[in-house]
Amino acid sequence: MTPDTPLFNLSHSIRSRKADLIELTTDLIAIPTINPPGDGYLEICEFLEKRLTHRHFDIRKIRAKGALGDSDKYPRWNIIARHEGSNAGECVHFNSHSDVVAVGDGWTVDPFKAVISDDKIYGRGACDMKGGLAASIIAVEAFIDCFPNYTGAIEISATADEESGGFGGVAWLAEQGWFDPDRVQHVIIPEPLNKDRICLGHRGVWWAEVETFGRIAHGSMPFLGDCAVRHMGAVIQALEERLFPALTQRTTTHPIVPEGARQSTLNINSLHGGLDEPEDHYTGLPAALVPDRCRMILDRRFLLEESLEDVQSELKEILEQVKSERPAFDYDLRELFSVLPTMTEKSAPVVTAVSEAIKHELQVEPQYVISPGTYDQKHIDRIGKLHNCIAYGPGILDLAHQPDEYIGIRDMLDSAQVMARSLVNIFAPHGKINIQ
Ligand SMILES: [Zn+2]
Repeated sequence: MTPDTPLFNLSHSIRSRKADLIELTTDLIAIPTINPPGDGYLEICEFLEKRLTHRHFDIRKIRAKGALGDSDKYPRWNIIARHEGSNAGECVHFNSHSDVVAVGDGWTVDPFKAVISDDKIYGRGACDMKGGLAASIIAVEAFIDCFPNYTGAIEISATADEESGGFGGVAWLAEQGWFDPDRVQHVIIPEPLNKDRICLGHRGVWWAEVETFGRIAHGSMPFLGDCAVRHMGAVIQALEERLFPALTQRTTTHPIVPEGARQSTLNINSLHGGLDEPEDHYTGLPAALVPDRCRMILDRRFLLEESLEDVQSELKEILEQVKSERPAFDYDLRELFSVLPTMTEKSAPVVTAVSEAIKHELQVEPQYVISPGTYDQKHIDRIGKLHNCIAYGPGILDLAHQPDEYIGIRDMLDSAQVMARSLVNIFAPHGKINIQ
């Protein structure tokens, strides 16, 4: 890259915005958008509105009124900012979630003060994913300044509730048509997957609740009742003997990270038997009762090679088998939530654009990965029917949700260069040739 070429200027323009990037990240971290319950959504939307209005974005603040999680006390506000180029063309959309998880224990710095030390910014949401949001804003602003006459459109969104399923955020927006392929053609989600990795998709998820039934009786005479917890014990034993070993054997060739997730998995999310837990101020002993119900929530993650139907029937078969072995056993199986696995093709335009950008800006070969858990791509893919979507952004995924979460400033700048260069690759503002 030689001085005074458009690409040199773009890269220089991003590096010259370092102080702005730090300030923007700091300001975003200072708005404590903790979810649940979903605090500060309007405040963060208004903050972004102020910044992007100055740069001629058309701003829409959209409340997901009536969506799961939305209430007058905790309204689910989202923002979509759209910038039109000189001529109509394809739209590239950068989607970040604005919510962060609870602070938790173990912090050595104030989680909302954005303490800077050793080229890192510390704070809740620094890595997941306000650093990514800030990097995408800087990338887009620099691109627009360097290529004001580009053909196409760029959108930046900050959406609610990703940490609780995205129903008041991307899912709701997708249902309203905001991610329809006739208005948005490329989506980049700046989740913290590392600056040299492109995340193509995620495993599937199936949440189910199993309930076993018994008969209540005095705890001193359990033989007069029927213990629902013992029935559940039989279910867990069957899972240990039949399901867990089978899942370990079921592996994939797809590049899921971390490697431990390259197999089917099952997590027992929660287990509760007997009476409800007493309230905090209750100081007495529990009543002597045989539990008549026991509930267990299962979190099953499955591979692209498996079907949801097989995942469901596999558990059902195990429960039926336990039923045939235990005379008094009865159960209920309820599905809570399911998402199919998804993977964008490596040949998709957004993948090749970002891949070329990583090679040129960072001088490394990009890695292609798949996420063990789902993120908002699921809604863009399934509801929006838009399959040209990836996650790409700065930060170390393992730091997400941890105490002393941080984002590297250099990583943010590098990934902003990759994002801006990706826009060049997609829009080819001065022709497909001569971009070196
Ligand atoms: Zn995230």
